[in-house]
Amino acid sequence: MIHASHLIRSASLLGKGTADVLVRDGVIAAVGQDLGGAAIDGATVIDAAGLVALPGMVDLHTHLREPGREDAETVETGTRAAALGGFTAVHAMANSSPVADTAGVVEQVWQLGRESGWVDVHPVGAVTVGLAGEQLAELGAMADSRARVRVFSDDGICVSDPVMMRRALEYVKAFDGVIAQHAQEPRLTAGAQMNEGKVSAVLGLAGWPAVAEESIIARDVLLAQHVGSRLHVCHVSTAGSVEIIRWAKGRGICVTAEVTPHHLLLTEELVRSWDPVYKVNPPLRADEDVHALRAALADGTIDIVGTDHAPHPSEAKECEWAAAAMGMTGLETALSVVQETMIESGLMTWADFARVTSAAPAAIGRLGDQGRPLEPGEPANIVLVDPAARWNVDPAAMATKGRNSPFAGMELPGRVVATFFRGHPTVLDGRLNTPYLHGAR
Ligand SMILES: [Zn+2]
Repeated sequence: MIHASHLIRSASLLGKGTADVLVRDGVIAAVGQDLGGAAIDGATVIDAAGLVALPGMVDLHTHLREPGREDAETVETGTRAAALGGFTAVHAMANSSPVADTAGVVEQVWQLGRESGWVDVHPVGAVTVGLAGEQLAELGAMADSRARVRVFSDDGICVSDPVMMRRALEYVKAFDGVIAQHAQEPRLTAGAQMNEGKVSAVLGLAGWPAVAEESIIARDVLLAQHVGSRLHVCHVSTAGSVEIIRWAKGRGICVTAEVTPHHLLLTEELVRSWDPVYKVNPPLRADEDVHALRAALADGTIDIVGTDHAPHPSEAKECEWAAAAMGMTGLETALSVVQETMIESGLMTWADFARVTSAAPAAIGRLGDQGRPLEPGEPANIVLVDPAARWNVDPAAMATKGRNSPFAGMELPGRVVATFFRGHPTVLDGRLNTPYLHGAR
């Protein structure tokens, strides 16, 4: 059997010193200066001078929409988008139709991911049956299934009942799971259309107060402490939420937190355009929130970037604001937005980038073969980035079915040149190559 091998020449590892990386049989076979000799005979050479090599990105928060909403996205189209965006693993949120609340549905999504072969697809299990908040789902059966679910979330909806949240936190301790909470007190946000503040007052739209997010986070970190379990806070969006998480971490509470690329760059001022592409849950907030989120990601209070990639069919967005669906696409722009907001600003290095987009999300999801360092013997999940490239965001040119990118028309830095998934190039020269064939090697 012939094993394809690739020699990545002169890449800057994590933006630091340059080295050659030999990829063979799905793993990093060697890292060093001017690799040569018989070991590299037959390897396809990739000139990576000027490119940054990073561990494949891991998304803890992706909506792939399948089963049930294939008009919005499929596992195939969503994972193509992920590979093009530099990802080698995504967590597929449970709010599909049917909801991923049984071993059968999570195994179906996991299997679709295997068949697609663009990235690892790790299904997220629902916390409650049908996301209804009334009855705990079969968490143990999902954990024991072939999908080996470790992340559970009713995302899109908050687990607002404190008794239900406590029971879920207790239950997942048995298999080292984590509850990922969409923090939104429902009664404080009934009918809310945007952030509550100056702009909502001017526009006459029902506001979404910061306290609706912060009160749930405060309650949940205390519950996590009480139960001694793991809590993950999805898409933190306010400065006050950052303060609560910082306090909880200071007390040793086992909490991790996530921020989306769009909350790192965009503010509520965009809602003045009345363009529903800016309608999202949680809503775009104020400038001071954006600054607090960037600082929190840089200092580690917020652990990871999660895309909350949420594709919608055009009819769900091309309508009046009040009727429009909430959500934005993000897989194919995440790297560039984080480079723009965190690296170009001087707040983070590429090594920090690798931590918040790969190592930390893989650790939260308990993935053993993702988020690993670029060292010999490690799985060859690698992305090569041209940090000097600049490009104009064109949603029509993307692999996702969703056209609802809030970055459309913006010029952003950084392009994914190649993505290696289990040693196989899923992306080459910035274009899709071929998928990885599971079981073929
Ligand atoms: Zn959410």
